Parts: sequence; C-alpha cells; structure tokens
Amino acid sequence: MAHQTIILGAGLAGLSAAYELVRLGIDVQVFEARERVGGRAYTVQLNAAQYGELGAEFVDDNHTALKSYATQFGIELDPACKFPDDLYWFIDGMLRNAMSLTKEQNTGVENFYTKLYSLLEEQKDPQQTLDEWLNTEPIAPFARQMARRMASSLFATDPEFIGVGFFASVAGMDNKSNMRVRGGVSRLVDALAKHLGKRVHTSTPMRRIQQIDDSVTVSVETANGLVEVIAQSVIVTLPWSVLHHIPIEAPLIDAQREAISSLPYGGVVKTLLQYPHRFWSKPNFGIVSLDSEYQAIWEPTFAQMGTEKILSCFSGGTRSLKLCEQATELATATVRIIHPDAPEIIASRSYDWSADEWARGAYCYFRPGELHRFESHLTQPAGRVFFAGEHTAPVEYRGYMEGAISSGQRAAQQILNLVRK
Ligand SMILES: Cc1cc2nc3c(=O)[nH]c(=O)nc-3n(C[C@H](O)[C@H](O)[C@H](O)COP(=O)(O)OP(=O)(O)OC[C@H]3O[C@@H](n4cnc5c(N)ncnc54)[C@H](O)[C@@H]3O)c2cc1C
Repeated sequence: MAHQTIILGAGLAGLSAAYELVRLGIDVQVFEARERVGGRAYTVQLNAAQYGELGAEFVDDNHTALKSYATQFGIELDPACKFPDDLYWFIDGMLRNAMSLTKEQNTGVENFYTKLYSLLEEQKDPQQTLDEWLNTEPIAPFARQMARRMASSLFATDPEFIGVGFFASVAGMDNKSNMRVRGGVSRLVDALAKHLGKRVHTSTPMRRIQQIDDSVTVSVETANGLVEVIAQSVIVTLPWSVLHHIPIEAPLIDAQREAISSLPYGGVVKTLLQYPHRFWSKPNFGIVSLDSEYQAIWEPTFAQMGTEKILSCFSGGTRSLKLCEQATELATATVRIIHPDAPEIIASRSYDWSADEWARGAYCYFRPGELHRFESHLTQPAGRVFFAGEHTAPVEYRGYMEGAISSGQRAAQQILNLVRK
C-alpha cells in the first residue's frame, strides 16, 4: 500500500510539508481547524484595496526557504526597512536612530552586546532571566531600556520571563534589511494551498492522535461528527500551546511531553490603523520602538498605492493581555505620543493572538535553561508522529515564517526517510 501521511494544521509549516510530500509523490491529507488556511500568517484588506498583516509580516535577508517559494510562485517581495537607519527609539520625547544617539548611548549598546556574547561563550543557556541578568551587570541605562523593549517587541514576552540565553541567541543577529510579501503573506499561503487542492480540509479540528503498531489514527471533527482517519504517519504542526490540550497516544519521551505541556508562548495584539494621508515627515515611517501599551509601530503601506496610509501597532508580552476591547483606542493614543497631530483614523483592524483558540499565543520563547533542555527533542519523532512548526525550527528562525517553512520541509524529509526504510 502507498504511504499516506496526515498533516495537522494548514499554517506555513503544514502547507510546506504537504507541498514537498506531494512533489515527492506521497499521498497527504491536511486537516485545519479554522475556516481559513495560513494560521499565524493572516493578511487583511482595509479601505482603498490597501492591506496589512495581523500576523507575520517581515522577511529577513537570510530567510532563504521563504524567498525560494516566493520565486517558485512568482510572488515578489518589496523592500521594507534598512538597518540601522530605519530603526528609531522614542526617548525623552524624541525619535532617535543609531546615527542620532549620543556617543555615550552608542558605547552603552556596544558594551551590552559584548557582554551578552561573552555570556553565551561561557554558558549556552544560563539559569537567569533577561531581567535578572540586566540587574547583575553594569549595563548603561539606554542599552538596558533597549533590551527590555526588545523582549516585548521582538520576543512577545517580558524581561522577567525570557531566558537570557535564548534572548542572546537571537537578539544580536545582524540583519541589514527586511522585506514584505507584495500583496500580503496570504498570497504565499494561498499559492501553496492551491497546489494541494482538495487535500486540504478546513474547519476540521483534530481532537485525538493514537498510534497503534505501524499506523496512526487521527480523530477529526467534521460537520457530520467525529471521523477517524488512518495513515502510516502524521505531521503535527499545531502550536504546542494548543497541542498540550489534546490527547496523544504515541511513544513520546518524557522531555517531549514536558516540552509540549510547558513551552511558553508570548502574547501579541497587532492593531492596524488606517489614516487618510501620511502625516510623518519622511516617506518611510521606519520601525519606532517605544515604551507604551504598544512597543513598536511601523508602516506597512510604504510600497502600496493610494494616499491612505496604514500604521501597524505591535503590543507584546503582559501589556498586550490588558488591551482587550480598548486596543484601537490605545493604539491611536500611542501614535499620538509620537505624532500629537495625527488625524482621525478612517479604518482599523485588531487581533489578539492569545485569545485565539487555535494559537493561544503569538510564538514560543524559552525560559532560563529550557532551550538547552528541550532543543534536541523538538524535531524528534515519537514513533510515527512527526513534528513541525515554528517552535521546532533552529533557534535563529524560531518565531518566523522561515522557521515554519523550513521545519515543514525537514519533517517532509523525515517522512521520506521513513518511506525509504
Ligand atoms: C503578531 C505576529 C507577528 C509576527 N511577525 C512575523 C514576522 O514579521 N515575520 C515572520 O517571519 N514571522 C512572524 N510571525 C511568526 C509567524 O507568523 C509564525 O512563525 C508562522 O506563521 C507559524 O507557522 P506554523 O505553521 O508553525 O504555525 P501556525 O501558523 O499557527 O499553523 C498551525 C495551524 O494549526 C491549526 N490548528 C490549531 N489547532 C488545530 C487542531 N486542533 N486541528 C487542526 N488544526 C489546528 C491552526 O489553526 C493553524 O492554522 C509573527 C507571528 C505573529 C502572531
């Protein structure tokens, strides 16, 4: 009998795994809980055919797997930001980038990174949070403030929770520029899904996984009730924040069970505000980091047509959990901290990833010591149950579309190895 694989979740990891397996001639069925594909890649339209991203948005220089798919599907990428020029900190009522920081501030930042890297050389994953480490080291005030803001705006958590080892592994990566998918990341998702056609089943949440001998039975909820689907292998791409609520009967080792039940996910609320026109002086708003309910603001419409302009407001960590119904109001107020003359918005959309039952958070992070403890178990299959998803990617791609895609490709290769045995 030909090998059949079930793929759970039609985000970028699930779709990439399915796409690669179909290309290799392996039969797949993809089951997705939501009515739409894409998961945490979610493009929405506002007025005047302008679009913004409520989930994933930026593509970094080294995101080669994503770029390769974009080329294959004829999807273009638009330049977004150049670094360090387009990164601004709002401090003491002023916007400053690397060129306009004081000499003292720049030296403080350099010292901060030197200390962070030497810490990693000494110990891979110290038993300290970022906050604890900042409190024990002589870090200059601006660098300290920058690190704390990065915890929320990059890692979607608080300095009191994130392990300094995980922070250090990712925080200093030297990215010179980034891009956006022209037309929105959902175009990439749709291109993959189109290739898979009727193999993708939406609105069919998986409720149970059970491996018996050489086959796996997956229970999925359909409009006609619970249905059992049997295959020779399964790739699970659900965020572990969701998976840990679902029974899995498979030969998982203790460290895997522990990781599935405890891997933390940060919270993010992303709010898109559409304005009638640009009211900032430079054409590119850049990425503005600030210490407020929202910790980062940028403009996704830089390369889009129309006089209307959108600002993306990003709130991460504990503060994002308190925005609730006031998200739009608080986002407009945050923009007015930087630009008191901002006009009234003409449209808005907001999304709270912690409140989403199929995500239960934005992306994973690691507490002190967890990176070291879990790392080698994240990509390991449990019998015929394989794992993919952003959380199983190499540390530098975790929390990125690149991590989702490359993990899907890796899981497809693991299935191929199983088939060839
Ligand atoms: C606010 C935000 C901003 C981001 N910004 C960026 C960025 O700028 N650049 C970047 O590269 N990345 C960014 N990311 C990260 C990126 O979105 C993710 O890393 C990536 O999309 C994850 O893909 P995935 O396939 O691993 O998971 P998901 O996209 O979550 O896919 C998993 C799928 O499983 C489905 N599912 C859940 N439970 C079940 C079930 N029981 N049965 C069946 N299906 C189920 C879900 O509905 C989902 O579709 C951002 C994420 C967020 C939330």
